[in-house]
Amino acid sequence: MGSILCEHCAAACCRYVAIPLDKPENARDYSDMRWYLMHENISVFLEDGDWYIQFQTRCKNLASDNRCKAYETRPHICREYEAGECDYSGGNHGYDEYFTHAKQVDAYYEKKTGKKLPLPDGVPKRRRSKSGKKKTA
Ligand code: SF4
Ligand code: SF4
Repeated sequence: MGSILCEHCAAACCRYVAIPLDKPENARDYSDMRWYLMHENISVFLEDGDWYIQFQTRCKNLASDNRCKAYETRPHICREYEAGECDYSGGNHGYDEYFTHAKQVDAYYEKKTGKKLPLPDGVPKRRRSKSGKKKTA
């Protein structure tokens, strides 16, 4: 932050984390995307051919006046981010696709493939823990 434009903005760029995702290639990848979106404050977007998962979460260095409390030690990504091409100004920041709900993934998959996204088959006969190991109970 630091330009005049930033004086008029509520620090939109300091309120999320976006991480690149592998391009979804198959039904399992889209199933995983549905799972991400079943969590609160998560979105997935496609921009210029690249996929991202976005966590809506406020930076702990953001002060109540929308200034950076760690300006001198802020990370590379904050220094490289340019007002004028940013979330507030619009710039080239147009999403090709933006998902906030699993149902949007279902519709996107159907539009892309002409088929419904297959759901996992039935209920497993044996319960599994989160690590995938079989439980005997
Ligand atoms: S979103 Fe743009 S205008 Fe707002 S604080 Fe970030 S760089 Fe400045
Ligand atoms: S470190 Fe500062 S500039 Fe970077 S996201 Fe946090 S508040 Fe914004």
